[in-house]
Amino acid sequence: MAAEGAGGGAGRVEEDGIELAIRVPRQGVGLDELGIEPLMFEHTFWCNECEGLASNKTCPHDQDARLFLSGTKVREMLGNGERPPHEFSRDEVADILIDAYKED
Ligand SMILES: [Zn+2]
Repeated sequence: MAAEGAGGGAGRVEEDGIELAIRVPRQGVGLDELGIEPLMFEHTFWCNECEGLASNKTCPHDQDARLFLSGTKVREMLGNGERPPHEFSRDEVADILIDAYKED
């Protein structure tokens, strides 16, 4: 592997004859230094039965009770000037995003 060392950056590696571009994280960067705490969780959705955000781990209800919109669907709606459902996004936030899509 011809990746860079402690400074981090881009590198390349060959795997099964295919050269892949890779990103090498800087070594020694701790979560304290980043100032953020990553939270790992699965896709979430709104559940009408749970009356809140839920995931497959927390919600035992049927798909019919769940509102899940893919990122692609949300971008399509915003691009068409449509607000996503209230359970998905506040109107004030949706309006800002819709305006941003108009600027593109
Ligand atoms: Zn539920």
